[in-house]
This record gives sequence, structure tokens and C-alpha cells, in this order.
Amino acid sequence: ASPLKVCIVGSGNWGSAIARIIGSNAQALQRFATTVKMWVFEENVNGRNLTDIINTDHENVKYLPGYRLPDNVVAVPQLQDAAEGADLLVFVVPHQFIRKLCDEMVGCVSSQARGITLIKGIDEGPEGLKLISDIIREKMAIDVSVLMGANIANEVAAEKFCETTIGSKIMENGLLFKELLQTPNFRITVVDDADTVELCGALKNIVAVGAGFCDGLRCGDNTKAASCGVADLITTCYGGRNRRVAEAFAKTGKTIEVLEQEMLNGQKLQGPATSAEVYHILKQKGLVDKFPLFVAVYQICFEGKPVQEMISCLQSHPEHL
Ligand code: NAD
Ligand code: 13P
Ligand code: CA
Repeated sequence: ASPLKVCIVGSGNWGSAIARIIGSNAQALQRFATTVKMWVFEENVNGRNLTDIINTDHENVKYLPGYRLPDNVVAVPQLQDAAEGADLLVFVVPHQFIRKLCDEMVGCVSSQARGITLIKGIDEGPEGLKLISDIIREKMAIDVSVLMGANIANEVAAEKFCETTIGSKIMENGLLFKELLQTPNFRITVVDDADTVELCGALKNIVAVGAGFCDGLRCGDNTKAASCGVADLITTCYGGRNRRVAEAFAKTGKTIEVLEQEMLNGQKLQGPATSAEVYHILKQKGLVDKFPLFVAVYQICFEGKPVQEMISCLQSHPEHL
């Protein structure tokens, strides 16, 4: 089969970060055509066209400054030119523009093409809530997967480790996009419950606004998390003692026990001990392989495993293999 042609529809902060990954994977993998077209909403930046800047200097100086875009990612100002003949379409624009862009693209995209949306947002239809993926699916008559995760674009561009989820109604298509998008530091799980993935990605932005309000009002971390179903998890990962001491552990190399004494003035950590208890139970039940995070935390705290191996543990999570 001839290599699949990829078009990225969008080139903002996230669009540019994902273009780094797609460009590099399309270069490396036979299955994808090396040249990747990226539609860029043309604008004048410091007296030059943004597309010219990207194609000459290989940097989106406005939306992702400081990071090089691969040479095989070509900025295209006309949407139809970018989308023409594409086998794979990656939609990554602010959600308010998607309807208009789909209308412009209809006619130059084959119904055999496959799409994925990285857009976090929803729309209103006649019967209420309307998913962005459904808008694309209906307007363009193609299958559409979704990709959502805790993926701050600048961190992804900096190749800091993160995880993400692809939701697909046709699993084969989700797995194809996983091939296009996964890297050692951008780990993908594919699931078939696409609507839930998309809803979570969209709705968390509302929670984030609430969290920003809490910060502006100088509330605490408990308050910030109170509106969210995974409240304790989030709060503990940003503001808790376990997190704070673990950070010091990674930075100083002192033991948990010593740090607890030095930092907590008599208060007690629950996390390390809990990891030991859980580890014992997992071992008893033969489930150690299924819980790499819990196991790695235990081994780092109590068995001298180097803390740097935290990342390799996450990278080799069974879901990613
Ligand atoms: P962005 O926030 O950087 O938005 C700017 C983009 O919108 C630019 O490419 C600009 O050219 C384009 N634009 C401006 N006016 C336009 C118009 N009239 N028509 C079409 N395009 C126009 O974009 P982003 O960060 O790439 O976000 C895209 C989607 O990805 C959003 O739904 C966002 O929630 C989601 N997302 C963003 C991040 C992130 O960290 N930035 C991470 C995950 C998901
Ligand atoms: P913001 O759009 O609030 O920066 O969120 C980015 C994001 O979705 C990270 O996963
Ligand atoms: Ca290739």
C-alpha cells in the first residue's frame, strides 16, 4: 500500500506541538508519507506571513516559540490545498472554528479518509449537547477518533513525559493513529468509548476555569479540587505532603524517613507506607505486573530502586505496549 498522507488542520499551540511528533514519526515510519501538510490560518507576524516563517525558519514563532518544527512539516495557507488527497486528518483548532472549516473542506476529502480530533470543546445541537467529533463526522462523512489527555502543549513540545487516550468507534483506526502519534514520552492508550474520552477532555476545561477562580480568590488546594470528581487525587498531586516530600527525595537523595523528620515537624506521611501495604497484597494475589506505578513507588521508597526509574516505569506501562 502507498504511504498514508497526513494533514494537520490547525497550527496553534497544541497543533504545533503535535506537528513535531507527527513530523518526526512520518519521517521515520514507512507507513506514513514523509511530507506532512499543516494548514495554517494565515496571519502577518513581524511583517512576514506566518506560513513563510514556518517554511523558512521551521518555527511557529507566534504559537509555539522556541521549538523547531520538522522540515518535512509544510505550512499551507489554503485549507483545500492542505486537505486535498489526505488519508489522515488531524483536527486541532479552537473548537469555535470547526464548523466553518469542515464546510470549506467538504469535497476535497475522500470518504475513505480517517480523522482524529484533538479539540477540547463541545457544541450545541438541536437536541442539546453536540460533540465536535460528531460535527466532523456528519459534515465530512468520515470516521473520527478523538485524542484527549493531560497534555499541556509546551510540555509535550519539551518532550516531558505524559499520557493520553485515543477513543475510537473503529478500533483499527485508533490503533493506526496511535502509530502516528506515540513516542517514548507521549504514551497512548486506545479505548472504544470515544464519547466519554471526548467529554472528559471538554468538560475539564470548565473545571480548570473554576480552579483559576479559586486561585484568584486565594483559596486552598482542597477548595480548588472540591468541584472535581477526582478531587483528592488532583489536590494531593499538587499540594500534599506526600508530593512535597517525594520531590525532596528525588532532589536530595535523602531517605523518606529522614526527610519526614526534617520537613514535617512530627507529622506523618501515609503514602510510602501505603505503597508497601498495597505491594504486599498485590504480591499475594499475583497482580504485581498489573500495577507498575504502585510497585515502582514502593521499590523506590523501600528497595533502593533509583528514583529516575520512575519514568521508565511509566514508559513501559502494560497499556502502552
Ligand atoms: P491555540 O489556543 O493556540 O489557538 C490559536 C489558533 O487558532 C492559531 O493557530 C490561530 O491561527 C487559529 N485561529 C485564529 N483565528 C482563526 C480563525 N478565524 N479560523 C481558524 N483558525 C483561527 O490553539 P491550540 O492550543 O492548538 O488548541 C486547539 C485545541 O486543542 C483546543 O480545543 C484546545 O482545547 C486543545 N488543546 C490544547 C492544548 C494546549 O496545551 N494548548 C492541549 C490539549 C488540547
Ligand atoms: P488549557 O487549554 O487550559 O491550557 O489546557 C490544556 C490542556 O488541555 C492540557 O491537557
Ligand atoms: Ca515516511
